[in-house]
Amino acid sequence: MRLGRIGGVVSAIALAATMTACGSSQKTVDAEASSSAAAGNAGALVGVTMPTKSSERWIHDGDNVKKQLEQLGYKVDLQYAQDDIPTQVNQIENQITKGAKLLIIASIDGTAISSQLQQAADAKIPVIAYDRLIRNSPNVDYYATFDNFKVGVQQATSLLKGLGVEDGEKGPFNVELFGGSPDDNNATFFWNGAMSVLQPKIDDGTLVIKSGQTDFKTAAILRWDPATAQKRMEDILTKTYTGGAKVDGVLSPYDGLSIGILSALKSSGYGTSGQPYPTVTGQDAELASVKSIIADEQYSTIFKDTRKLAEQTVKMADAVLKGGQPEVNNTKDYDNGNKVVPSYLLESVIVDKSNYQEIIVGGSYYTEDQLK
Ligand code: BGC
Repeated sequence: MRLGRIGGVVSAIALAATMTACGSSQKTVDAEASSSAAAGNAGALVGVTMPTKSSERWIHDGDNVKKQLEQLGYKVDLQYAQDDIPTQVNQIENQITKGAKLLIIASIDGTAISSQLQQAADAKIPVIAYDRLIRNSPNVDYYATFDNFKVGVQQATSLLKGLGVEDGEKGPFNVELFGGSPDDNNATFFWNGAMSVLQPKIDDGTLVIKSGQTDFKTAAILRWDPATAQKRMEDILTKTYTGGAKVDGVLSPYDGLSIGILSALKSSGYGTSGQPYPTVTGQDAELASVKSIIADEQYSTIFKDTRKLAEQTVKMADAVLKGGQPEVNNTKDYDNGNKVVPSYLLESVIVDKSNYQEIIVGGSYYTEDQLK
């Protein structure tokens, strides 16, 4: 017994000594790898894939990422896929073939590129998920995005403010709910964030979802398509809002959908002094939607500074390409179904008519002239 214990202690000491030795030789290996990565990747090609040019934000994202990477001396292959999954798959494959040393991907369908990511991993090409999490793959190294749950909370908070609930109005208010694309991981985060604020108000009767369409699956709009949102709003108006019933508010998770929703409302007689538009939310501070807010059509949007997202992502990419560890500030919330992806989350801001000048113009996102 005694001997056994001593034997155990001796082996523990031996093991510790071996581990220390391994630790230091491992450190040397890491340091060598870092310096060779730093030297070897100078001026390397970076593959950047964005989902579509049909929404302005992705054009800004792509331009900002490209410009900032080029400023650091990297070459950039920037591609857009017009929301077509096979096109994006091809673009990523091409970038791997062209010898990209790192991939930055804003995916269309977060589950559809696993085999391309495996190819990247086999070729030791690190991958950064941009804005949208890539799901069901171990081969995603980092994720740069906004606090997506909080974006949803902000959308719902702004909806309640527009309805006057925050100032004590009791309702009941007729509200309709829209969700984003079900294959975009962000869409569920936005929805869950929004519902964390709205559900208690539905439960206490302040808000009434008159169409009865309260689940994400029914409310979700595939590929974030404005025309699909317009059609769904038209259907709801025709089927549910009969006999003089009015819509008081619409939870919309993206400016493009808000434009479709407002257009359906307009065709149904809203947007006059006698029948003003309901409170409609949004996201992205797209130029047309900020103008619409100024014109008292859309009520609010969520401003996500894509310049900052690009900056953070480029910092991450540069650190990885130099063999270092990028800065992250969240290592628990973004489980992609295979692993928790180390993430950097940025903050978003609610923008409405009361603060667009300070946030959007003051922040040089758009000039006063662009908003005319
Ligand atoms: C982005 C949103 C955007 C939406 C539609 C989401 O993944 O986070 O900013 O509104 O896609 O493009």
